[in-house]
Amino acid sequence: MSEAPLLSVVIPVYNEQAVLPEMYRRLTEVLEGMEESYEILLVNDGSRDRSLEIMIRLRKHDPRVSLVNLARNFGHQLAVTAGLDHARGRAVVIIDADLQDPPEVIPQMVALWREGYDVVYGQRQARAGESLFKKVSAAAFYRFLRRMTSVDIPVDTGDFRLISRRVVDAMGRLGEHHRFLRGMIAWLGFRQVALKYERAPRFAGQTKYPLRKMLRFAADATVSFSFLPLRAATALGFVVAAACLVYAGYAVWARLFAGVTVSGWTSLMVAVLFLGAVQLLSLGIIGEYLGRVYEEVKGRPLYVTDFVAQGPDDRALEGRDEPDRDERPPASP
Ligand code: UDP
Ligand code: MG
Repeated sequence: MSEAPLLSVVIPVYNEQAVLPEMYRRLTEVLEGMEESYEILLVNDGSRDRSLEIMIRLRKHDPRVSLVNLARNFGHQLAVTAGLDHARGRAVVIIDADLQDPPEVIPQMVALWREGYDVVYGQRQARAGESLFKKVSAAAFYRFLRRMTSVDIPVDTGDFRLISRRVVDAMGRLGEHHRFLRGMIAWLGFRQVALKYERAPRFAGQTKYPLRKMLRFAADATVSFSFLPLRAATALGFVVAAACLVYAGYAVWARLFAGVTVSGWTSLMVAVLFLGAVQLLSLGIIGEYLGRVYEEVKGRPLYVTDFVAQGPDDRALEGRDEPDRDERPPASP
């Protein structure tokens, strides 16, 4: 058992008590049908429900389950990063806890890896059970990002993928805080291949990506992979300057030759407000970049772990009594 497994399956978990047992069951079924040795690496991202209890129990019953408990909620991308840092496999699969990515696809990923590919990314063909808004916004986002960046980030892919040890090690050297993993992996290069699959609806529970987090994520992706917004601010400056020049010419002409004293309160207001808006917008764009620069300069670790229980080492769990008591909520009177 102390030997490193061939395959690591990294699962970020945030408040997933409703899906964990089923996830474990389906994943184990798939993995046991394969010949590779494996570990299931659960990363608890500061869950506030009973996920941690469930994970500790899984770990105690199955030593192939490893557990990284983060000190608080660091967010999906950092939870996956923590998983990659701790994974010991020659190949690592990243998969969501909610069973939207079917574990049944993993053997095909492993087969492609055996053929020599370093990255096998899942590409969604269909997204069942997601709102029209999510589908449309996601489709638009991936296409927008493609135009904005020089890195060839494949469309309609999430983080569900297999990556080889070389890629995991290379990822370990990318220390940025605002992470867009799928973009970073695309940036690395190596031999990449798509594997089409159908994205299922969430098995249970609710999405952990409300609109606010989705927008953050989109901003992170754009800013980390593109200078275009900064350039857009410059371009906007030129356009406005040109327009102003034309108008100034007209104003002078009207005063000197047409004898018109400019009477326009309206035009004045429009110009002032418009310029103010353009300036604030540009400042905001600079701020987006500057804030991230500041974050990087602080040089903090990407995440902090509370404890790690992995392989044969169970010391971290000592003293944590198995919370096997009564699981059901007390019956209401
Ligand atoms: N997740 C996480 N930390 C967070 C938010 C989400 O570890 O702060 C995990 C979550 O448990 C799930 C995965 O990231 O395994 C994807 O989240 P979710 O399914 O809610 O996102 P969606 O599929 O709706 O985009
Ligand atoms: Mg999901």
